[in-house]
Amino acid sequence: MKQIKKAKIKDYTTYKLTGEIKEVFIPENIDELVKLLSNLDNYKIIGNGSNLIISESFNVPLIKLSSFDNLKIDGNIVTVGAGYSLMKMCRCCADKGLSGLEFASGIPGSVGGAIYMNAGAYGKEIKDVLKSVTVIDGVNIKKMDASSLDFGYRSSIFKKKKYICVEAEFELKEGDKKKILSDMKNIMEKRRGVQPLEYPSAGSVFRNSSQPAGKLIEDIGLKGLRVGDAEVSIKHANFIVNRGLASAEDVIELIEIIKTKIKDKYGIDLELEQEILKG
Ligand code: FAD
Repeated sequence: MKQIKKAKIKDYTTYKLTGEIKEVFIPENIDELVKLLSNLDNYKIIGNGSNLIISESFNVPLIKLSSFDNLKIDGNIVTVGAGYSLMKMCRCCADKGLSGLEFASGIPGSVGGAIYMNAGAYGKEIKDVLKSVTVIDGVNIKKMDASSLDFGYRSSIFKKKKYICVEAEFELKEGDKKKILSDMKNIMEKRRGVQPLEYPSAGSVFRNSSQPAGKLIEDIGLKGLRVGDAEVSIKHANFIVNRGLASAEDVIELIEIIKTKIKDKYGIDLELEQEILKG
């Protein structure tokens, strides 16, 4: 098992924030993971860090499941490790002519993080194609049907219970490879058109409610607002981008300013979609 002490936060978040955290463990397999869990009082599982704001003050060891990267395709059933890249899985399935995951092309998470968040885009969500998951619940390993995972808008049972997803099964449909690849290309082009993919970020900052959060933020003129190197994107107001050396504290302060201004103007409490890890 790899253990990285004084790990650079920028290596574990797509925000590429500054600073260091105490330690990161990368277990090679379930046995190593279970043993590690029995030795730790507290821990936080991370996937690709594409929905996380990690502060230097977060004193809890991180466990990254990047070595859980098996992928097997049997007919229309895909069995995949929780650490596997969602985007890579989309491409592998497309290459085999399997349809259902096109919506997820461009979501830079791991399979485990996407299930935790019930990641979604363009009207589809992970729950629409997930069949089952294998989880560690304390010391027990069990398989759970997707129907028992309490999925909602960017939420799942994983937000309430401390289950760790180690593997998942997806059920896709046979389709036309050319069409699947072209649909994925169109989705990526749409994303490039509206999202600031040229700068590090963690996607949408706030959840959408009755009105898209980005529209509310844009309408009160907050595009371009900065705290340090954290900036409300000029291209999409529900993205905060790192223009260089932003820290978690810069991003958090900017979030607080946006929330206060939206509350003052509209009386709406914006809810975070991203997750803050701080001490
Ligand atoms: P992380 O950010 O590492 O973790 C998120 C949560 O999942 C944490 O609480 C973590 O503890 C938990 N977790 C991770 N792995 C496991 C596991 N194996 N078992 C249990 N818990 C686990 N999201 C969308 O839904 N739709 C989009 O269109 C979208 N577009 C994005 C575009 C960009 C440019 C970026 C940067 C992000 C975007 N996101 C989007 C956000 C993000 O990619 C998703 O939320 C993704 O599902 C997070 O996966 P992750 O592996 O990075 O999880």
